[in-house]
Amino acid sequence: MKALRLLDWKSDPVLVDVAEPRPEPGQVVVRIGGAGACHSDLHLMHDFESGQLPWAPPFTLGHENAGWVHALGEGVTGLRPGQPVAVYGPWGCGTCQRCLQGVDTYCENLAAAPVPGGGGGLGLDGGMAELMLVPHARHAVPLPEGMDPVNAAPLTDAALTPYHAVRRAWPKLPPGSTAVVIGVGGLGHLAVQILKATTAARVIAVDTRAEALALATQEGADLVLAPGEEAAAQIRDYTGGRGAEVVLDCVGTDSTLALGAASARILGDLTIIGLGGGTLPVSFFALPYELSVQTTYWGSRPELIEVLDLAARGLLRAVTTIFPLAEAPEAYRRLAAGELTGRAVITP
Ligand code: NAD
Ligand code: ZN
Ligand code: ZN
Repeated sequence: MKALRLLDWKSDPVLVDVAEPRPEPGQVVVRIGGAGACHSDLHLMHDFESGQLPWAPPFTLGHENAGWVHALGEGVTGLRPGQPVAVYGPWGCGTCQRCLQGVDTYCENLAAAPVPGGGGGLGLDGGMAELMLVPHARHAVPLPEGMDPVNAAPLTDAALTPYHAVRRAWPKLPPGSTAVVIGVGGLGHLAVQILKATTAARVIAVDTRAEALALATQEGADLVLAPGEEAAAQIRDYTGGRGAEVVLDCVGTDSTLALGAASARILGDLTIIGLGGGTLPVSFFALPYELSVQTTYWGSRPELIEVLDLAARGLLRAVTTIFPLAEAPEAYRRLAAGELTGRAVITP
């Protein structure tokens, strides 16, 4: 079968022939319906070098996947061939306290994980191929009735990641509050929807691109802004001078972090989701009092089930552009050039 593989750091992925995977006991092979093209893949292609991560190429890209059960390894029960499933992407050891809670993202026994701190498309073979090996049946999460795997794929990362970030900030988002989403791409356009569906906060979206701001408006943003020198002041004006209770930075550069800190309210939350590599200087007078700053990584399995439920009820919908596997390199080119709105989904 054909697969889009990253063969080395600092290189573009290539389409090559690979052997079809077979499931060992306890494993599942999924026939991929959709594999989302995440901006993190661009970071993988361009920003990392040997030794920086605990895993390395070669591997098949695609860490945002859904499809149909193709083959079950010995001993797997509760799933049947042909069944539509989402693939929960972060793969931990399965037995530490975090993994037992469904929080494989923060596995505390990485040495026993299939790959330390990664998963399919992140060190191991991912979904940009016809078939994908899922190393444990618990990662194959049945889709709600009637949900198409192509639409479901982006939910497993582009929605799950901001859902986790919003969910942990729920107590700070009562009626009367404001949340800011910086970067309205794959993750950000779903962050706007998640805020609208699960909180009563007003939502401000910030992006450099007019098409992204138009998408944010379509998805329910109350105010859209370009990130300029005025942006922080505009956010303060909009919030009666107080600032936003929660800022989700889906870019993560020096300038977006500075904007986040300048527009957050005292006692607020600044969550760094984007891997833009920026830093935020911290000192006593540099930040609003009691601003909590955190990075978040992906989301938990129970949260994925909640995300799927939101989508099944029509409260969450990824805006997608579809590409066949042969055009996956073109999808990444357009993602890098800022020519996509929403998420590109590859359909092997
Ligand atoms: P994307 O390319 O689809 O979207 C990024 C958006 O940010 C684009 O709309 C772009 O126009 C906008 N943007 C760029 N620079 C900006 C600036 N200075 N100010 C405002 N907007 C700006 O990317 P994506 O797939 O949504 O991923 C977003 C980031 O999140 C990436 O860095 C990715 O690696 C990271 N990510 C993190 C996690 C995690 O678990 N923390 C998970 C997935 C992705
Ligand atoms: Zn991702
Ligand atoms: Zn674990």
